Amino acid sequence: DAHKETLGFQTEVKQLLNLMIHSLYSNKEIFLRELVSNAADAADKLRFEALSDDALYEEDGELNIRVAFDKDAGTVTISDNGIGMNREEVVDNIGTIARSGTRKFFDSLTGDQTKDSQLIGQFGVGFYSAFIVADKVTLRTRRAGLGAEYGVQWESAGEGEFTIETIEKAERGTEIILHLRDGEDEFLNGWRLRNIISKYSDHINLPILMAKEPVPNEDGEIDEADQGDETVNKATALWTLAKNDISDDEYKEFYKQIAHDFQDPMTWSHNKVEGNLEYTSLLYIPSKAPFDLWDRDRMHGIKLYVKRVFIMEDSDQLMPRYLRFIRGVIDTNDLPLNVSREILQSSKTIDTIRAASVKKVLSELNKMAKNEPEQYAEFWKEFGQVIKEGPGEDFANKEALAKLLRFASTETGSQEQTVSLEDYVSRMKDKQDKIYYITAESFAAAKNSPHLEVFRKKGIEVLLLSDRVDEWLTQSLTEFDGKHMQSVAKGDLDLGELEDEEEKKAHEEIDKNFEDLVERVKKTLDEKVKDVRITHRLTDSPACLVADHYDMSANLERMLKAAGQ
Ligand code: ADP
Ligand code: MG
Repeated sequence: DAHKETLGFQTEVKQLLNLMIHSLYSNKEIFLRELVSNAADAADKLRFEALSDDALYEEDGELNIRVAFDKDAGTVTISDNGIGMNREEVVDNIGTIARSGTRKFFDSLTGDQTKDSQLIGQFGVGFYSAFIVADKVTLRTRRAGLGAEYGVQWESAGEGEFTIETIEKAERGTEIILHLRDGEDEFLNGWRLRNIISKYSDHINLPILMAKEPVPNEDGEIDEADQGDETVNKATALWTLAKNDISDDEYKEFYKQIAHDFQDPMTWSHNKVEGNLEYTSLLYIPSKAPFDLWDRDRMHGIKLYVKRVFIMEDSDQLMPRYLRFIRGVIDTNDLPLNVSREILQSSKTIDTIRAASVKKVLSELNKMAKNEPEQYAEFWKEFGQVIKEGPGEDFANKEALAKLLRFASTETGSQEQTVSLEDYVSRMKDKQDKIYYITAESFAAAKNSPHLEVFRKKGIEVLLLSDRVDEWLTQSLTEFDGKHMQSVAKGDLDLGELEDEEEKKAHEEIDKNFEDLVERVKKTLDEKVKDVRITHRLTDSPACLVADHYDMSANLERMLKAAGQ
């Protein structure tokens, strides 16, 4: 019983397919990179599962990818002997977009093709890119370890439905047959395919095989040595090469291969570390935040290799959460090949590599901030909010992190976050010993807050904080460069040395004259407030609400209420 079913794509898949075919057409050859990258992932997954169950190799441990074409049939076929899929996995992985950020992605589409194709790139096109060049795709697969009778065939014309049935498949792994659309014959050509492979997939860690295409001799014969398959990519792990032997384009293509990203990275850092610990890291900063940046269960991150064998892809063991946008690989010789997830969790080696990698990333960012401020401004726009989680999470690197922060400020008056704490300190007034800031629910609310009046009058700069994360940031970052961070909306505003003797006297006078009024207001408001005080912070507004020094700020209170607490 082949149990053939016809199922409908999730609505989002239909939408995505349509959009993709139209907006990515000018870059259609990337379908091969996407399918090859999936095949390479499948090999990685098999290697990892086989660490604890050698039988999964089924006596065929030579993992590879094969690319073939058939001129008469009009097909291109990509096959691998990786992990494969069972029926349920095919339905789950190929018929739906189970990714977080999907909603946000569709909401942000504009209908403008150029803009949308950028967004699709950020979202990641993956398997469905096959439909850019094919009007029918047949996927045949069998999961490692299952019998030949558990093969699965999936087929679709990319128009809303797919069929799925059980087949016999002797070889483990996945085979994807693209039935090319009319006019896509250019891909029925060995040189064209080889060319795309070396452009995009030269440095995946696995041989890509194609049939040799020998030229017959004068007698029309073909030498035996010229028959069979050949490896058409370099198949060396890029990170093992010397920096000088790697071109920028190679770094960029490798990034796209491993990061499931469509765009060039912003920058990267490639380090070979020797000494007590031996490891290589190749870490990338993407140029755009991915759609799932805010998702806690997102899967991509750093790929860990041991002696060039893939072990796992991990999102929080090799980088802290506030650096979850970093992509790349770490390869070490100092762990056993049969390392398990549990061992990794308590491994000193991993801890040391992680700590060093974090330091590396932060120092690269600080370098960028100094030497390439424009690029850093771009970086801050994309990832600033995540970096602001840092001081609360990573005590050891608080100082390096504080230097990376950028804020809006009364000095610039602009919503753009461009002012560093170092900038602020360099502009501090003569007797000023604190860094003043205000948190509010929006930039406008911060900028127009009555709390700022006295600071305006005295020409003292105040940082304007209005990101959600700023409340948490200011709880963990309480000083910088020996200067206390002071909310202007909290407690008794003591301007200390900034107030001169005459002002103090005048204030005392006023306080005395209004004692009666204060008493009356206190009685009227009664339980509604903790205290009523005369203030000298206002110049235009008659009154304002103030939080006690050790109380939550009004803004934090509002956020907690909104969150139902
Ligand atoms: P991504 O690679 O970013 O996860 P894709 O759309 O490229 O997204 O692939 C979707 C999923 O389909 C993969 O995560 C994987 O589970 C499955 N898949 C695709 N190709 C293969 C393959 N050759 N072998 C095994 N599984 C595959
Ligand atoms: Mg993919």
